[in-house]
Amino acid sequence: MDRQTKGIGESHLVCHCLLVETREGLVLIDTGLGLRDVFKPQERIDGLFRNFLRPKLRAEETAIRQIRSLGFRPSEVRHIILTHLDFDHAGGIDDFPHAQVHVMETELKAATHPKGFISNRRYSPSQLTGSKTWNTYYQEGEKWFGFDAVRQLKGLPPEILMIPLFGHTEGHIGVAVETDQGWLLHAGDAYFFQGELNKDYSCPPGLRAYQTIMEVSRHQRLFNQKRLKDLAHTHHKDVRVFCAHDKVEFQDLKTEKLRLLAGTSENFENVFWMRRDQGKERPLQ
Ligand SMILES: [Zn+2]
Repeated sequence: MDRQTKGIGESHLVCHCLLVETREGLVLIDTGLGLRDVFKPQERIDGLFRNFLRPKLRAEETAIRQIRSLGFRPSEVRHIILTHLDFDHAGGIDDFPHAQVHVMETELKAATHPKGFISNRRYSPSQLTGSKTWNTYYQEGEKWFGFDAVRQLKGLPPEILMIPLFGHTEGHIGVAVETDQGWLLHAGDAYFFQGELNKDYSCPPGLRAYQTIMEVSRHQRLFNQKRLKDLAHTHHKDVRVFCAHDKVEFQDLKTEKLRLLAGTSENFENVFWMRRDQGKERPLQ
């Protein structure tokens, strides 16, 4: 599944979350697994995914623990934007009960009224009861590099946009963040492997099969993947695209001398990548 592991040995994926410090408080983009998933996985993660994906249940890698070690209080996380509500993206919601959650209306509906074998397993009802404040959105017609964009998320600075990228789930989105060095686009699960955006498409067979099993619309998923590929090539100087589970992209962004920083705009202080390895958390600056 990751093209680094030989044969059918254990391969590694990550859950890539983004923490943005804004004048409106901390904004967390995707939450990964949360503390309750770590401590009570049987109640929170369907057995199919627990046994097949075998997520590493490490409390120190949850967003809440990493945010604490950055020196923040969890209550400073005021907003959570979710690319979609699969269990590996929404598990941390209830670690931040003070946060407002932002998601597409169609995604919340799909997750709370699941239909079919996969939908009944990919969404975890107990993960979704942790927030009382859901802000939902519909696809709008404003454009961002040719993509539809939802602007003006409630209570959030204008530099953070939702970019509908349906196909993996009913209401799957990417989240774009404007920095003084161009745009970052968290593409969620719109693709899984960095080679999928290369001119010569490549994707390990395991990941290709997994994406097919999990898709709700093959047409939309492949259409959006193609558009992301075009975006990444045509506007590579303006937009940095990354997905939720590619380990190499995560390592690159974490270690690269990106200076997304202080004074990005008057709404931002810093953008952080949260690290999955041991050690002290710190902003990349
Ligand atoms: Zn995922």
